[in-house]
Amino acid sequence: MTYDLLLKGGMLIDPAQLIHSVQDVAFVDGRVAGLGTDLAPTQAAEVIDCTGRIVTPGMIDLHVHVFWGVSYLGIEADPNCIAKGVTTAVDAGSAGADAFPGFRRYVIDVSETRLLALLNIASQGMLTAGMGELFDLRYASVPRAVAMIEKHRDVIMGVKVRLTKDTIVSEASGLRPLYLAREAADTVGLPIMVHPPAAWCDSLDEILGVMRSGDILTHCFHGMDCGILDAEGKVRRAVYDAIERGVIFDVGHGAGSFKWDVAERALKQGVQPQTISSDLHVFNVNGPVYDLATTVSKFLSLGLSLDEALRKVTATPAEALRMSDQIGTLKVGAWGDAVVFELRDGSFELQDSDGQVRVGTQKLAPMTVIRAGKIYRGQQGLKGHHIHSPH
Ligand SMILES: [Zn+2]
Repeated sequence: MTYDLLLKGGMLIDPAQLIHSVQDVAFVDGRVAGLGTDLAPTQAAEVIDCTGRIVTPGMIDLHVHVFWGVSYLGIEADPNCIAKGVTTAVDAGSAGADAFPGFRRYVIDVSETRLLALLNIASQGMLTAGMGELFDLRYASVPRAVAMIEKHRDVIMGVKVRLTKDTIVSEASGLRPLYLAREAADTVGLPIMVHPPAAWCDSLDEILGVMRSGDILTHCFHGMDCGILDAEGKVRRAVYDAIERGVIFDVGHGAGSFKWDVAERALKQGVQPQTISSDLHVFNVNGPVYDLATTVSKFLSLGLSLDEALRKVTATPAEALRMSDQIGTLKVGAWGDAVVFELRDGSFELQDSDGQVRVGTQKLAPMTVIRAGKIYRGQQGLKGHHIHSPH
């Protein structure tokens, strides 16, 4: 046998390679081994008939919370990520330096989902809802964050800071945590991810002023203070400037941070998110977010093309993670992570985090997930496999 697995006859959409055509995808030893229109099924140990379906690189979710049982909003990674087509997920600050070794051993190292992390600048991370992680600035320790990142450089991709006043940051701490996150990230040469809703500042301009190329502004379409729109609903000048210099605007839908109205106004003014992420956690996994594929479907309803939307969960987040050679693409040699989707037509109610509903006409439904060249068959795995072994 030449191939371990062959995805046969699907519509391959791989924005990193600008491919949108019917192509077979073959895997050997966990990697993509070949693309083509006539790869022989007899040469594969296992074949999935993908006729009429879409094949994409495994999705990458830049913002989830999967420190189950420890962080107050943590969900389990595998049933919510890989089982739903997300082969790589980034936990956005559930763990800080105090708990990171446990997060690594008991979650990252034992999950089927490829998990990466942004380390919370607050060493307690997001353990308790009782008191925001930055109410006491002593938690925001640059040396402790730096020491932990140095030990786990293979999985820590940056530094996370949340700035919402009264619930996360006290007035005494103000915007100081942002500068401490910047200092820690600069020390180790990694980006920051900033959560800006209702921060202690006059406008988003002050926060964007601290952000550079490769940094990620998550919750970019939230409807609270410190948003991307001014009082007249116009996209702030500082937003265009930030996009121009390479700051990544990320959706981070969440339970309170995605508003149809803000997204619609932004898109109308030519501002798209660079990456689409879910901010999946206990307070939104049963709606309105559900999963990343549903979040992508929301952007289809906003008028993005399938290729544009899929780029924002494959090629672009891979670039943001500096892993374009490994993930977010099915080019030959890349890690063998893929999803077989059904694109369903119909009428689908899609809700934002304010309870507003829009009706979409297309929905992406993941049918089969491939991780490192193997079909994911987890306990809560997907139905609808079309698998047969030749001979
Ligand atoms: Zn979050």
